[in-house]
Amino acid sequence: MLIPTTKEAPSDATLISHKLLVRAGFIQSSGGSGLYNLLPLGKIVLDRVRAVIKEELDRAGCQEVHLPIVTPISLWDETGRSNKFGDELLRFRDRHKNQFVLSPTNEEAMVNLVRQSLKSYKQLPINVYQINWKFRDEIRPRFGLMRAREFLMKDAYSFHSSREDMVREFELMEETYKRIFRRLGLDFRVVEADSGAIGGSGSKEFMILADSGEDTIMVCESCEFGANVEVLSEENSTCPECGSNLKRTKGIEVGHIFQLGTIYSKPMRAEFLNQNQKLEPFIMGTYGIGVSRIIPATIEQNHDEAGCIWTDETAPFRVDIIVAKPKDGRQMEVAEEIYSGLREAGVSVILDDRADKRYGFGVKIKDFELIGFNYAIVVGKDIESGKVELIRRDGLKREKIEIADILERVR
Ligand code: ATP
Ligand code: MG
Repeated sequence: MLIPTTKEAPSDATLISHKLLVRAGFIQSSGGSGLYNLLPLGKIVLDRVRAVIKEELDRAGCQEVHLPIVTPISLWDETGRSNKFGDELLRFRDRHKNQFVLSPTNEEAMVNLVRQSLKSYKQLPINVYQINWKFRDEIRPRFGLMRAREFLMKDAYSFHSSREDMVREFELMEETYKRIFRRLGLDFRVVEADSGAIGGSGSKEFMILADSGEDTIMVCESCEFGANVEVLSEENSTCPECGSNLKRTKGIEVGHIFQLGTIYSKPMRAEFLNQNQKLEPFIMGTYGIGVSRIIPATIEQNHDEAGCIWTDETAPFRVDIIVAKPKDGRQMEVAEEIYSGLREAGVSVILDDRADKRYGFGVKIKDFELIGFNYAIVVGKDIESGKVELIRRDGLKREKIEIADILERVR
């Protein structure tokens, strides 16, 4: 397997997650600033995160679609955002001199999809989403996948015939996002946010708590309330919900939900026939998740001096079987037995039977700690007394276990 672990961190890396993800062989620079190759382990983690997001959205009744990454600029002209978006919007022409953009977000394109296919209030509400690559020509791409130029986003858009129904969906999405981040095993806060460039009113951000976060947030010490400092003056030190103390902390924005209203549907004349057979613009909400940003955010929150500590749902493999001496036939036999037993039980497992002199036992343990699989099972000398060693990555606690019990134990 292609897992090029290394001792050296890239010279431009300042964040621990950037250093560790490169050193552990999850990502590598593609040469261009803010553009990364995902290596096999990085792709596995991304797909696992994506799967949790898809499962929870589908459960909430959202429908997945796929839009082209290339969008005609004429759609952006309809809302005036072709001018407003500025230099983050990468524009280009095709051979016929038609102008396009590489999508940095997809409100216009999704409104265009819906206005072609929905005509009546009877077809509402609807929530459509995609999990797709976005491009933003960030002024200062940095921190690896955290602020890249190309990144994976889940963007959902809901369409309603009344404001109340849009607010209902907004609340459903808030609950759905909480389920997603809880399942991913992340410590997060939902905070009141500024509506920013996308506009509209009523917006909340989902923040992964980490000291290195770029956002400063105020969170209540006793209830769930939190707000971005941008919306709360900093002198304001008591919770508007319960009156307890607010404390300052740092967060990484991984999700953002907005109540949009008609600010896109109006200029784009995206309309439906209401109960009185009158045309009305769709009332909309939009809901984003920075799917690829969740990877570095997870590591900012969960690491130690030795390396990454993935949560149960984000780990590239749950178990790493380390064969101390792969040239020892008996060790290989035990290791392969455990390996196939775990696979049959549906546990994701990788077998480290690298036999080259360069990959001694110490290197294998170091790689396990650097990469951060949830558990290692060491198959070594202990097999003479019928035992293997189980190491839990979080805390590095070790314990000897009877070979006969290991499958049951891990399961
Ligand atoms: P930020 O304030 O971090 O620039 P944003 O407000 O521009 O974020 P949105 O337009 O709401 O972000 O995009 C939805 C989500 O996409 C964000 O919550 C964030 O998690 C993620 N995201 C935005 N820009 C990037 C980027 N350059 N690299 C990786 N993820 C990003
Ligand atoms: Mg931005």
